[in-house]
Amino acid sequence: MRLSRYFLPVLRENPAEAQIVSHRLMLRAGMIKQAASGIYSWLPLGFKVLRKLENIVHEEQMRAGHIPMLMPTLQSADLWRESGRYDDYGEEMLRITDRHGRDMLYGPTNEELITDIFRAHVGSYKDLPLTLYHIQWKFRDEVRPRFGVMRGREFFMKDGYNFDLTKKDALHAYNRHLVSYLRTYERMGLQAIPMRADSGPIGGDDTHEFLVLADTGESEVFYDSKVTDLSFGDREIDYDDVAQCQGVLDEFTSLYARTDETHDEALFNAIPEERRRTARGIEVGQIFYFGTKYSDAMGANVQGPDGKPVPVHMGSHGIGVSRLVGAIIEASHDDKGIIWPEGVTPFHAGIINVKQGDSEADAACEAIYKSLQALGLDPLYDDRDERAGGKFASMDLIGLPWRITVGPRGLKNGVVELTSRRTGESEDLPPKQAVEKLAQIYAGHLVKGI
Ligand code: ATP
Ligand code: MG
Repeated sequence: MRLSRYFLPVLRENPAEAQIVSHRLMLRAGMIKQAASGIYSWLPLGFKVLRKLENIVHEEQMRAGHIPMLMPTLQSADLWRESGRYDDYGEEMLRITDRHGRDMLYGPTNEELITDIFRAHVGSYKDLPLTLYHIQWKFRDEVRPRFGVMRGREFFMKDGYNFDLTKKDALHAYNRHLVSYLRTYERMGLQAIPMRADSGPIGGDDTHEFLVLADTGESEVFYDSKVTDLSFGDREIDYDDVAQCQGVLDEFTSLYARTDETHDEALFNAIPEERRRTARGIEVGQIFYFGTKYSDAMGANVQGPDGKPVPVHMGSHGIGVSRLVGAIIEASHDDKGIIWPEGVTPFHAGIINVKQGDSEADAACEAIYKSLQALGLDPLYDDRDERAGGKFASMDLIGLPWRITVGPRGLKNGVVELTSRRTGESEDLPPKQAVEKLAQIYAGHLVKGI
């Protein structure tokens, strides 16, 4: 993309309404614009990041054997009456009446709808196990929407639902989700720690929340500091291997890590004192096993091996995709702006022409731009006729992890400058080598973008 033809409305000043850094930086970097309280338009740069996160989630869910689909945002109230949640859900549910006087709602989640699909089409235990998911907008009429996309009213969420014949199978589905979520967050450059949590209105006993540690997080968390040494890395995983998935769950959930809802002072105090940590965290996902709660209420049975109807065991599993955009910025920024991890960056590299209009500088930038694109990379070329200082400030603000600076002085010596946004370190390289180096850096990080 050439910046002169892009739409990147960066703000010079700090917007007064933003209380936390991610909200401030998303507004300043021209990623979002508030449309109404807790409801945002995603401007081009923000949309690029949102799509990347969505694609990472799809890739990891499909890798785990889960099947993508799409359910609508608006739902009929009837299904929610069947499950009993139409009244239980409370004020957070946005209720709507259509022109025929029928009660509708903007879905805050989809257990009812998916259970209805299941009971209509699945009849035999032979069709199990089955895990379906979608990534769709949700609406919860939060009392206090705040912190930008972190606590919106309309937000983008992946929600997946497993259907299994037995509790044992459903717990394997739970473990599979835990493993796939660990991989997902790590690919986004985040450490998200699974913590034992409370199930709230979804219901059920087994549940973990995934938390990113950050001072601005809304949850209070208690953990053994050794849990932060764990990383999933690039280990091979067979998602059908029950013991292997259980092993990962055990490894990541045996150390003490809980939110305030389930915090146990006695257990916490049993951790050696120097490893006890109390901190704040951002909830970026949650997994639940809730047994036959919805299948009992809504009659979602399959015919078991002995021909008798058996209610299916279910779980649901969510990732806060739009909240993650904010969470990544909370975890990765400095006083100049955002610092995107390579896996989610909206553009792979910025090209700054310090002397626009100089024929050699223009030609060198053009050549670099085209060769990066030819390698499948997505560069942002700042080709505007502006002072170099302003170009650097904008590039730092929007946080692309790599920058190639091109100017007549370097070109005389046959080099351009390749700079890391994270460390600030620069290297003078011939243009071809700078391009090759970027191709190497991104070799393991290419996610389909937009
Ligand atoms: P919270 O406790 O933060 O209100 P929740 O536990 O009610 O969230 P879940 O039902 O577990 O949310 O939804 C799955 C994920 O969706 C959450 O882990 C979170 O990342 C995201 N999410 C929930 N509510 C919001 C919101 N209002 N704005 C943005 N993301 C949200
Ligand atoms: Mg939750």
